[in-house]
Amino acid sequence: MTALENAISRRCFLRFAAGASALATLPILTEAHLAQAAQVKFAPSNRGIHIDANENPLGPSEGARKAVEEMIPKSGRYKMDLEEEVASTFASIEGLNPDSVMAFAGSSGPLHYTVLAFTDAQKPLVIADPGYEAPIWAAKVSGAPVIKVPLADPQGSATHDIKAMLSASSSPGVIYICNPNNPTGTTTSRADIEYAVANAPKGSILLIDEAYIHLSDASSALEYVKQGKDVIVLRTFSKLYGMAGLRMGFAVGRPDLLKKIAALGGFNAVPITALAAAKASLLDKDLVPARKKLIGEIRSETLGWLKSDGLAVTPSETNCFMLDVKRPGSEVIAALAAKDIYIGRIWPVWPTQVRITVGSRDEMLAFHKALQEVMSKSTAGLVPAPRPGRLAEHPFPHLS
Ligand code: PLP
Repeated sequence: MTALENAISRRCFLRFAAGASALATLPILTEAHLAQAAQVKFAPSNRGIHIDANENPLGPSEGARKAVEEMIPKSGRYKMDLEEEVASTFASIEGLNPDSVMAFAGSSGPLHYTVLAFTDAQKPLVIADPGYEAPIWAAKVSGAPVIKVPLADPQGSATHDIKAMLSASSSPGVIYICNPNNPTGTTTSRADIEYAVANAPKGSILLIDEAYIHLSDASSALEYVKQGKDVIVLRTFSKLYGMAGLRMGFAVGRPDLLKKIAALGGFNAVPITALAAAKASLLDKDLVPARKKLIGEIRSETLGWLKSDGLAVTPSETNCFMLDVKRPGSEVIAALAAKDIYIGRIWPVWPTQVRITVGSRDEMLAFHKALQEVMSKSTAGLVPAPRPGRLAEHPFPHLS
């Protein structure tokens, strides 16, 4: 270890010792430790390279920015009609009934409400592992048991094991399918989704999270909403559209299902600036293919570099993937943070793997150079810094 790394390791340790409970020094075994390890992501967002939250460094499109600027002077009004107009625009592009589309400020809200509405102590949540953990935090509120089903073929395709997920419980409340999956970036085939729709236990809801679908060739489950199935599809503008901070998303489902979700969210109004940006983004026909191509190229380059370094990566189709660093992933997170490069978290089921977001070309070059330096040395004993301030007290860790 260099003198600098030594000092950082010592500083991290002292911050833990001074500011956090004894829990912080325990090995990573549970969700509590996982949340602790993830806290490094709250490093100042205006400093260093952030490839930790599956954001899009491109930000909103030019058209979306212009639409926001034009909307700012009108922001003294609620303009509730605009929300319906944007939902209808999306519905007409996708051939959906407008009644089956509901706008939200991002997709985290409807995700949380869906789990609250359809799970309880007798109706578990079934989720892939590793998978996006936000539904698990919602299940803690509804009191539902959580059944984690390992991904099939973890060294290869790392896909959802749909048959195992369907047979995991006789009375699931929600079966959550993230397609493509966060954190692996891997997709679930159309045949598997179709099988899930046809065979999900009666009374359950298939919650299909398509946050990353625009970046992949995965086929959407919107057609099952059109068929009136017990399916809710989530879409967000936080990923390909680069609007994570603006906040806009859709829940798509039968009106009776959407009504149950909406009832839990109170006054769910979306900021009108976000609605304006979403509408401009939806109407820009070139945006999805252009960004999908650019991010896909940077992803392929990055995966290529890592593979030629002898490291294993998941076969991602999105802007994130898992990288096996063959040592505790938390050490590599801490070592890179010491170089002001912030990468994603680990999942306890895969403790030597870290999630990497595909950033800009320059960001990925800097990450690769820093990773090579980190991997050439020992990182033993390094731990991620704790999350500073008020956010540390929040009941749910912020996850993306
Ligand atoms: N679903 C998945 C799979 C995600 O990865 C995220 C965020 O990273 C979300 C939902 C929530 O995104 P947002 O609330 O920004 O739409």
